[in-house]
Amino acid sequence: MTDCLFCKIVSGDVDADVVMRTPGTVAFKDINPAAPVHVLVVPRRHIENAAFVEPEHAPEVAELLTSARAVAEMEGIASEERGYRLVFNVGPDALNSVPHLHLHVIGGRKMTWPPG
Ligand code: 5GP
Ligand code: ZN
Repeated sequence: MTDCLFCKIVSGDVDADVVMRTPGTVAFKDINPAAPVHVLVVPRRHIENAAFVEPEHAPEVAELLTSARAVAEMEGIASEERGYRLVFNVGPDALNSVPHLHLHVIGGRKMTWPPG
């Protein structure tokens, strides 16, 4: 997708604070962090959002999760005493603002539930 912000971050056309790259994913710091650790993990291939995921995307979705775990380990929040939240937003009610699938990795502070 030529006009997609996260495709441009994947290609390097738009700058981001990239913390990890894997063959199928790129992870970068959220520009407006909601917590001390807030990283977005995106598939290199453009997928609109989690509601557009089909069985053919299974390898990339698994890679999103393994990359998210690796990011959490790297950021020091993966221990049994800490932990983190993984979020996919879908649509306006969830405040989904960028139409390229991204997994939020949020942590470094005690979360509240339910989310606002
Ligand atoms: P959504 O609300 O769609 O689930 O999440 C989109 C996220 O992308 C938001 O948390 C927002 O702060 C982040 N974001 C939007 N534009 C940029 C950008 O240009 N660079 C980075 N690193 N994050 C962005
Ligand atoms: Zn895209």
